[in-house]
Amino acid sequence: MSLFQTIKTPVVTYEQPLGLFINGEFVKGVDGKTFETINPHDEKPIVAVHEATEKDVDIAVQAARKALDGDWKQITPSERGRLLTRLADLLERDIETVAAIEALDNGKGVTLAKGDVTASAGCIRYYGGWADKIYGQTIDTDPNSLTYTRHEPIGVCGQIIPWNFPLLMFAWKIGPALATGNTIVLKTAEQTPLSALYVAGLIKEAGFPAGVVNVISGFGRTAGAAIAAHMDIDKVAFTGSTLVGRQIMQVAAKSNLKKVTLELGGKSPNIILPDANLEEAIGWVNLGIFFNHGQCCCAGSRILVHEAIYDKFIELFKQRAEQNKVGDPFKADTFQGPQVSQLQYDRVMGYIKDGKSAGAKVVTGGDRHGSEGYYIQPTIFTDVHEDMTIVKEEIFGPVCTVQKVRDEEEAIRVANKTNYGLAAAVHTTNINTAIRVSNAIKAGTVWVNNYNTLHYQMPFGGFKESGVGRELGSYALENYTEVKTVRIQISKS
Ligand code: NAD
Repeated sequence: MSLFQTIKTPVVTYEQPLGLFINGEFVKGVDGKTFETINPHDEKPIVAVHEATEKDVDIAVQAARKALDGDWKQITPSERGRLLTRLADLLERDIETVAAIEALDNGKGVTLAKGDVTASAGCIRYYGGWADKIYGQTIDTDPNSLTYTRHEPIGVCGQIIPWNFPLLMFAWKIGPALATGNTIVLKTAEQTPLSALYVAGLIKEAGFPAGVVNVISGFGRTAGAAIAAHMDIDKVAFTGSTLVGRQIMQVAAKSNLKKVTLELGGKSPNIILPDANLEEAIGWVNLGIFFNHGQCCCAGSRILVHEAIYDKFIELFKQRAEQNKVGDPFKADTFQGPQVSQLQYDRVMGYIKDGKSAGAKVVTGGDRHGSEGYYIQPTIFTDVHEDMTIVKEEIFGPVCTVQKVRDEEEAIRVANKTNYGLAAAVHTTNINTAIRVSNAIKAGTVWVNNYNTLHYQMPFGGFKESGVGRELGSYALENYTEVKTVRIQISKS
């Protein structure tokens, strides 16, 4: 099988790399294996890509180690910043192509995919700005010594990303790691390998030395597990399910105790209090759960509504959800495309079935949308109670539950009744209420009168079982540096 293939999408025709990107070149896997990636819109294969196994992970790690100790070390921090900025420019140059790849491979609407490309370029450029601003401290302990700290790169970083934001997760991972001088072996999700391979070509074009970024396609139980267990990887960063996050932490501990950061699942509460601007709140609630087809780790899937406005809320939310345009990702006004895979479609439909049989009421949706592709209707459940599976477990689809709460106190209690702690929101026009509630909620991000408004300057990550560490903002830099203390004795003469 060749290493490139021309792909025709409804908006662009482009050259898709298919190989593993190792040491600056697209190559075949050692075992010669390939696997197909499926278009979730029509359930047909798009193309086959080369598959990495443990042996390829090894080769990629060797390339990353060589680059770390060689060319990359000689490059000044400012030059690292310039390379990142150049990569951001190239992404923006190719926005039509990259957005089309995301729509094709992941199923997200092409207009929203352009937003992902812009946010990814912004993130990479932002970290480019940090590259020459990574400072340690000088510490004055006594007159006879000089002590200072250096923030050094951790080394070779293994990064494992999911399929819900294939490009954006790639950017969130490589930005801070490269700004701080690390090298990378990144594995994409098996459902969505295409955009990262295309961007690997841009990394080469931007002028990064060979081996600094290695991008491999492959499966979790083989290539992913090999990254987590590798004895010459110094750090692993993972985004995905809590189940796999736990495994990665165990494997890291059992191998070389590599540093671990995890960005995992959620079951985030979205609270609407009686003094909220209801019309605006409905818009945010709708975006909170149905954006990206509900495939967001921070999706506002548990909606908690004060009893005084509950009936009105349900009426308006139903109307709003039914207006969402569900369909072909390549239509410019599509809001919700298909779920990413047959497996995810089956999982989500399984939860819907479970909710129905547990006695929850379907206000709207509750079924497949159309007859082809992994499409699911935007679904709202009411009449739920706290012990139902659909209230407790992450569904990761366009499905939410609405619970009635008596007052602020009950809203906070219910909001915190979860093992997760990724995000939350409160809608109120009273600043005191907003501060009280956001202080009381155990979550890494609390939005007030908005939802899902992530930004690369803001840290993001989870309390409790939603993760370890913070991505984005200056906080992410700490995940990618080791602090070295140097203490110098000053001679008296
Ligand atoms: P997953 O956690 O299995 O996959 C995420 C990534 O981890 C992929 O790249 C995968 O290849 C890799 N992986 C899988 N097993 C691995 C292992 N043993 N060692 C190393 N890497 C491994 O997620 P999934 O099966 O695609 O989705 C399952 C559920 O996970 C979803 O329904 C959703 O609830 C959750 N999820 C969360 C996020 C998030 O952003 N937090 C993203 C995707 C999925």
